[in-house]
Amino acid sequence: MIVVLEPGVSLKDKASIVRFIEQAGGRLLVSELGDATHIGLVDSTAQALADRIQTMSGVASIRSEAPPYPQVSRDHQATNSIVDVGNVAVGDSEIVVMAGPCSVESAEQISLVARGVSEAGARILRGGAFKPRTSPYSFQGLGEEGLHLLAAAREESGLPIVTEVVAPEDVGLVGAHADMLQIGARNMQNFRLLSEVGAQPLPVLLKRGISSSIEELLLAAEYVVSAGNPSVILCERGIRTFETATRNTFDVSAVPVLKERTHLPVIVDPSHAAGVRSLVPPLAAAGVAAGADGVLVEVHNDPDSALSDGPQSLTIPGFTTMMSRLKAVADAMGRFIH
Ligand code: PEP
Ligand code: MN
Repeated sequence: MIVVLEPGVSLKDKASIVRFIEQAGGRLLVSELGDATHIGLVDSTAQALADRIQTMSGVASIRSEAPPYPQVSRDHQATNSIVDVGNVAVGDSEIVVMAGPCSVESAEQISLVARGVSEAGARILRGGAFKPRTSPYSFQGLGEEGLHLLAAAREESGLPIVTEVVAPEDVGLVGAHADMLQIGARNMQNFRLLSEVGAQPLPVLLKRGISSSIEELLLAAEYVVSAGNPSVILCERGIRTFETATRNTFDVSAVPVLKERTHLPVIVDPSHAAGVRSLVPPLAAAGVAAGADGVLVEVHNDPDSALSDGPQSLTIPGFTTMMSRLKAVADAMGRFIH
């Protein structure tokens, strides 16, 4: 619920409205949007207080249709949030490309890929050390060793790193090496994990669950932000539908819908959406054309021997070709790629 105050409301009226809500036990969030003041009530006391707040001096109206994710909503902040990942700003006019292998496999592999993607214009290196695999018999990642290999690749390439954390108890360990923590699709509603990454300072890359609605994604982001961490980037990575021609169905409309509803940066992951190498460049282009702030893409020096997600991984030359095309799309959108 949002209480909209009258334009030019006096400080005294504003203070008494805030005091009234706090004394009644309500949790609130004050947003100044130009010369308008909105007070969001973020819990279940809201409805009970509405009738009394309605008649207070300085209150213009009450909107009960306000979204259930007040802090990440555009109602709270009209301007785009910019999230810093190491020295790279995501959500500004640059389209930030994050690239690297699905899994970190060896020092040689991550170093080769880091160099290749950096030369082609990637700004952030991705790579999984802890892998959430559908089958217990699939490669589960190198774990802590993978984090050390990623940190070495960062030293060598200068690229900040994003890597996945799959368990609340690993947040400290992964956070000691990474520049951004990835929450994978399978963990989008692991609420303890969300609260844990919300209680530490590194930015969070939150991927949409394979069967999750846009509202559920925004509520998951609200978990992180309400736990104290405002630095969240959302990622559309394809959802499960009846279609079998692609691994998932790339929900391109999620991009403009999210950009309308939230101030957080939004990126796309065409690799997990497509599942097939040849489809990755066109989906990446579609994502940027739809208004995405960045692209997360899997690249491998030798995809045929990759331990995970080889069929959807671009080769380094394939990635380089894709980047030159993406630059033209970014340009058409009034944005740029480094
Ligand atoms: C990944 O990025 O390699 C990954 C496992 O992604 P998702 O969680 O979107 O499946
Ligand atoms: Mn993968």
